[in-house]
Amino acid sequence: MKELFSRRVLGIEEPPTMVFRELAARLAGEGHQVVSMVGGEPDFNTPRPIIEAAYKAMIDGHTRYINPPGLPELRARIARKLREENGIQATPDEVIVTASGKYAIYIALCAILNEGDEVMLLEPAWVSYKPQIELCGGRPVSVPLDFSDNYAITKEKLEAHVGERTKAIVLNFPNNPTGRVLTREEADVVADFTLKHDILIISDEIYEKIIYDGRKHISPGANEAIKDRVITINGFSKAFAMCGWRLGYVAANREIAKQIIKVQSQVITCPASFSQYAAVVAFDCVDEVAAMAKSYWERRDAIVEGLGKVNGVTCRKPEGAFYVIPQIEHEDMKAWDLSMFLLKEARVGTTPGDSFGYGMERCVRMSFACSMDEINAAVANIAAVLGRKQS
Ligand code: PLP
Repeated sequence: MKELFSRRVLGIEEPPTMVFRELAARLAGEGHQVVSMVGGEPDFNTPRPIIEAAYKAMIDGHTRYINPPGLPELRARIARKLREENGIQATPDEVIVTASGKYAIYIALCAILNEGDEVMLLEPAWVSYKPQIELCGGRPVSVPLDFSDNYAITKEKLEAHVGERTKAIVLNFPNNPTGRVLTREEADVVADFTLKHDILIISDEIYEKIIYDGRKHISPGANEAIKDRVITINGFSKAFAMCGWRLGYVAANREIAKQIIKVQSQVITCPASFSQYAAVVAFDCVDEVAAMAKSYWERRDAIVEGLGKVNGVTCRKPEGAFYVIPQIEHEDMKAWDLSMFLLKEARVGTTPGDSFGYGMERCVRMSFACSMDEINAAVANIAAVLGRKQS
């Protein structure tokens, strides 16, 4: 019998977030009170002006195909946003509207990778980069970053993992799962490194609006010296609470953009037309976005303070995004067992830390994009099973 499946597909696994989300849902279905902090999905509804714009677009008959690179008004609006907010000097023809941020990363990788090309991944890293690189024929190369120095990026760490086949490095700031925000020094280190080795940057900035303590988001593509080698990725899911609309975008130099557009047009033609009409007004929902960001900030403070009082738990304050990655010392348990234990005993759904790669063997990831009541219940339940620190 012929080999039935693609070896590339057999080589990847189901996302662990899906596994634990399902387990949490099953327990809830059996009547248990479960707090699921597994997925990274805002608990807010999409701001009303965006919904109204989508409705109007549908009523007005905008329910047909759109040109593969995206709705011209939206490409122009995104280019303006990138220039004004990120300092990226993008023109509309350097912007491609994509069916989600996740898909934006996939088609960017698909456009640049040849079999065996290496892509450097700063770990811990979001769960989907590695399988996506592999599906595109590339080879992910882990660059381990350490909890002990707050996951600092240094020239030495980068130089230790670059080779002849290195094609690109993925940056993700604010970071999922560590919550780190890129510093100016780190941005300069990466810029020099990519120029020296002639490699591309894929900069996933999907959490840019969720940032704390007055920190400022830095876009690597704003640096004129490397602008042409940066592929900037973003999306509407997190900042605008639009996960279900499946909309994202890529900004890249014209040559790269041309290849990415080819992939999108051959695979999906275009993202949903009415999602694109609606997204044009999303950028004007400044107050709504700020209110959500403020709420995440309050939730961050609450969960970090709460977990800090629990026995065996070390939890750093994230600088951005909406995740904490507490390190838990409990009966020598590793990440998967810890997540299982927390689900079964504390009724709290988490993602096992080792899903994110290096240095997370004793951690779980918890999303605090849920209500304050859920955060308080989760902390109380975990404290009940692990005990409280002696003060
Ligand atoms: N990048 C990171 C780091 C993420 O955490 C996510 C979603 O969890 C995405 C990209 C993709 O978001 P979406 O596909 O909803 O735009």
